Amino acid sequence: MKKFVPSILASMMVMSCSQLSTNDSNELIVKDNAPKNIIMIVGDGMGPAYTTAYRYFHDNPATAQIEQTVFDRHLVGSASTYPARVSGYVTDSAAGATALATATKSYNGAIGVDVDKKPVESVLVWAKKQGKKTGMVVTSQINHATPASYLAHNESRHNYNEIADNFLAAHDNIDIMLGGGWQYFIREDKNLVEEFQTKGFNYINNYNQLTQLPSDEKVLGLFADKGLPWALDDSNKHRLSTMTKAAVNQLENKNGFFMLVEASQVDWAGHGNDIAAAMAEMDDLAKTLEYLENYVKENPDTLVVLTADHSTGGFTLGRDGDYLWQPDVLRTMTMSPSAIAKNLAKNSITLSYVNEMLNFNVTSDEIKELQATKAEAQRSLAEFNQSTKIAGKMTPSIEKALHKNINHIIDQRTVTGWTTFGHTAVDVPVFAMGTQKELFEGLSDNTEIANNIFYLLGKK
Ligand SMILES: [Zn+2]
Repeated sequence: MKKFVPSILASMMVMSCSQLSTNDSNELIVKDNAPKNIIMIVGDGMGPAYTTAYRYFHDNPATAQIEQTVFDRHLVGSASTYPARVSGYVTDSAAGATALATATKSYNGAIGVDVDKKPVESVLVWAKKQGKKTGMVVTSQINHATPASYLAHNESRHNYNEIADNFLAAHDNIDIMLGGGWQYFIREDKNLVEEFQTKGFNYINNYNQLTQLPSDEKVLGLFADKGLPWALDDSNKHRLSTMTKAAVNQLENKNGFFMLVEASQVDWAGHGNDIAAAMAEMDDLAKTLEYLENYVKENPDTLVVLTADHSTGGFTLGRDGDYLWQPDVLRTMTMSPSAIAKNLAKNSITLSYVNEMLNFNVTSDEIKELQATKAEAQRSLAEFNQSTKIAGKMTPSIEKALHKNINHIIDQRTVTGWTTFGHTAVDVPVFAMGTQKELFEGLSDNTEIANNIFYLLGKK
């Protein structure tokens, strides 16, 4: 257990209380200096290239220096992310979240269960048992892999309805949940929202309601059918920070709280190899962290830990031999590439129309490329519609083809590289601020992050 003791404290103890067993000294630290509030943040898919890219995206090119980001200010270490042996070295978000939530390595797809599919307890549920309030704030559907692993148990992340049912059964363990997911909570077979209301939850479905939450009451807030819109397209481009502020206000109480916050869609942008969407999601996360940085200043008895469950897309800054990464065009974009693709699929592709949506000037070659992509996708779709259906063969999507092409144009402009549409096994950064942040310094494993939190919550 010595690894849990911050080094300065550890040496003081060797000097002054060498008679104490390690167990006694642990109790001493927990009692004297455990954080009252713990906020665990997961940047889903946010490998090290994402926080580096955000620094240059966020940089003001008019000044000589490269401005520090909130991530730069609070980096304390890195973490390995590998799942249980049975799933190799590359984790998915379910095994990653199960490790971060329960300190248990499991197989890819596991939600709060071990390799034998037995339920394992999360830090959130443990915190509740210690008398704290608990919350979850995400930009995916609220029953997506990461939040699910903190509150539910299921052998597969894909059982979304079962996981939503699980949330209702676990309602005593949670005080506020904010995210998306109408289609899993308001279903033909049952209306979980009404059931949550009968359990005493206030239901909201509009961001504007976040400022008028009844104090000291439970809240379920669902704001989209599945995940929330991309930050770039949302009515509130900083919806994660808005929801986080509302949840913190709601959760504050004399016994403290544990809250999970997830920037869920960094991962989705990575899967789509979409750097424009990724930077906007990172900006929302940065605003959330900046708010918490101030919160910790005013409430130093709070601990904030941020890490990723894995990296996504094999994203990197630079490609094809060029010593360049040029995020300039990303800074002015106001619409996601997928929303732009939707418009280009419906309307005719002209230079002025594309320039207006991208908010930077494309070349005539790039326009020709987009027109050719659309014509080709239309041809494939017509062919598909005429041919006899083959089971499992996907309908060609004009929108998807155009989305890929827009991403390609942006990748060429920014000199952005990708290696995969999936996850990679690189270590991820760890950030911490506030009371006992020292516990998270250096290289750790994702399970140690959960173990540290359990420890700070008094679990032996
Ligand atoms: Zn993913």
